[in-house]
Amino acid sequence: MKLDNKVCIVTGAASGIGREIAHVYARAGGRVAIADLRLEDAQKTVDEIVAAGGVAMAVAMDVTSEDQVNAGVAQVVAAWGGVDVLVSNAGIQIVNPIEKFAFSDWKKMLAIHLDGAFLTTRACVPHMQASGRGGAIIYMGSVHSKEASVLKSAYVTAKHGLLGLCRTVAKEGGKHGIRANVICPGFVRTPLVEKQIPEQAKELGISEDDVVRKVMLKETVDGEFTTVADVAAVALLFAAFESNALTGQSLLVSHGWHMD
Ligand code: NAD
Repeated sequence: MKLDNKVCIVTGAASGIGREIAHVYARAGGRVAIADLRLEDAQKTVDEIVAAGGVAMAVAMDVTSEDQVNAGVAQVVAAWGGVDVLVSNAGIQIVNPIEKFAFSDWKKMLAIHLDGAFLTTRACVPHMQASGRGGAIIYMGSVHSKEASVLKSAYVTAKHGLLGLCRTVAKEGGKHGIRANVICPGFVRTPLVEKQIPEQAKELGISEDDVVRKVMLKETVDGEFTTVADVAAVALLFAAFESNALTGQSLLVSHGWHMD
C-alpha cells in the first residue's frame, strides 16, 4: 500500500490515533499535513516524521471554524498543489448522563465531530475534483457509530451521523473518483480514553480497573485494547485502495467488540 507523494491532511494529528496515521502515511510516501488545534504538538509530530525521512507540515486548525478550515486547506494546497487524502479525525469526548448534559457541551461535541467533518470535506472536495485524480475521505467514527453506551449521548449521535455524511459523500463523489469511508475503532488507549477512565469510574460508582475490564473491554474477544497501529493500518488501506469498490463502507476495528 503506497501513497507516493500523495497530499494527505489528517486532522487531530498532534496526538493519539491521528498522530499514528500521519506516521504511517508518511512511511508510505505521502506528504502529510498535521492539522490540529495544538500547533506546538502538531509541530512535534512533523519533526518526528521529518527526522524519520518523511515529508510533513503543521497546520493550525480548529475544525469547528469555517475560516480556519478553509485557510488551513488553502495553505496545504499552496504548498503542495492539491489534496488527495483527508482524514477527518479530530475529536473529543464528554461523558455525562443526558439529564446532566450541558447544552453547551452537546453543541461543542456536534461541532467538533460533525461540523468539523463537513467543513473539512467541503474544503477538500473541490481540489480532489479539480485534479482529475479524485481522492479518499476517511472519517474517524467509532464502535459508537454502530451502537450506544450510557453517558455518551452526544458522542454516539455524532458518530452515527458520520455514517450518513460518508454515504452521501460517497454517492456525490463517485463520478469524480472521490471515495468516502468510516473507520470504527473500539477503545484505544489515547489521552481521550485515559481521561474517561476516572470520569466513568466516578459516574458509574466502580473502580478504574473495572471501567477498563467490565465496561471498555468486556465485549472484545481477547480483552485487548485496539491499538493506534490497528487503526492506522485500516486508514492506509482506505487511503491507498485504488478503485471505488469500498466506497461508502464503514469498517469496525474493535477486537470483536462489535461485529456486523
Ligand atoms: P486524542 O485526544 O489523543 O487526539 C485528538 C486530537 O484532536 C488532539 O490532538 C486534539 O488537539 C485534536 N482536536 C480536538 N479538538 C479539535 C478541534 N476543534 N480542531 C482541531 N483539532 C482538535 O484522541 P484520539 O483517541 O486519538 O481520538 C481521535 C479520534 O478517534 C476522535 O475522533 C475519537 O472520537 C476517535 N476514536 C477514538 C477512540 C479511542 O478509544 N481513543 C475510539 C474510537 C474513535
